[in-house]
Amino acid sequence: MIDARKIRTVGYDIGIDLIKITTAEPFNEAAKRIKYQIDEGLYLDSEHWHLRDVDRSCDVRAVLPGARSIIAACQCYLTDERAESDVTDDPHGSIARYTWRNHYSDLRERLKKLAGFLKTEYDANTAVFSNSEIPEKPIAQRSGIGYFGKNSLIINERFGSWVVLGEIIADIEIDPDPPHRGNCGDCSICVEMCPTHAIIEPYIIDRRRCIQALTNWYGVLPDDIARVWSNRLYGCTDCQDSCPANRAVEAQPVRAEVGYVGPSASLREILSMSEKEYRRKYARNQMTARWINFQAIRRNALVALGNIRSHGTMPLLEKYARDNDPILAKSARWAMARF
Ligand code: SF4
Ligand code: SF4
Repeated sequence: MIDARKIRTVGYDIGIDLIKITTAEPFNEAAKRIKYQIDEGLYLDSEHWHLRDVDRSCDVRAVLPGARSIIAACQCYLTDERAESDVTDDPHGSIARYTWRNHYSDLRERLKKLAGFLKTEYDANTAVFSNSEIPEKPIAQRSGIGYFGKNSLIINERFGSWVVLGEIIADIEIDPDPPHRGNCGDCSICVEMCPTHAIIEPYIIDRRRCIQALTNWYGVLPDDIARVWSNRLYGCTDCQDSCPANRAVEAQPVRAEVGYVGPSASLREILSMSEKEYRRKYARNQMTARWINFQAIRRNALVALGNIRSHGTMPLLEKYARDNDPILAKSARWAMARF
């Protein structure tokens, strides 16, 4: 059994905020929860969880045969930069804080360095992940990174839920940490503050109503959701902004400029770009990850304009109202009707 202390020290020298270890046993509780959400129809039609082998998805030995340990990591993305957006002359759409930079990519690169150390020191075979489809949050809980908040995010006592998660799966046996036993207690602020009432019971999100999930789902947004969409271009953090566990978190220095896009973007510009121009401008940010649907980003921009109601954008909305794409045309007409 390898002592985790040396691995942690090297990881912290590489600049990773927190490192914990757990075993590579399957995450049976997570599989149960996913199956429940499938049965209840809580996933979006584009997510296809029902087509997957859920038990296999919750077993990291499927991605690294012979896996024995998981090195779980997190990186805090809270900085003291302001999340303001200009909604006057040039209406801007807000971008969720975790997307201002590509923290996943930054953490993945740091974890790759740590994986290199594991190879040299212990001849370990590894697989590195961040923002992936392995069960990242259950890994974080079982390794002791944090506990599940009722908003289904991982909360760490130092960084709150302002963290991205990453992992190294390794075929070596490392001394594991105990699971995190924290919980939200009597608090239910996020349940009350969610603008679309997407937290239907503690820890369970109806992803068909969650703005964060809908950001990348392509379709016409239901009127009640579109009305509370505000000026969002990408993502939602209302259930984090309102969480008391996040109040005292100390802002961290900016460590990586990889994929920087900032807190907002001009909606006019987004709606005037081709997909190629968009992917070039936001290259290396998760807003241009291969699974991001550019038409959904445009739909978001149209809905945001409908909520901002700046008369100067009417010609742009009129143009989109005649678009060949029925979802964009309908979203533009919804926005015009809001004036
Ligand atoms: S991300 Fe936004 S919409 Fe989704 S649960 Fe949190 S507050 Fe609700
Ligand atoms: S707002 Fe309260 S209930 Fe929700 S995650 Fe934070 S501590 Fe938990």
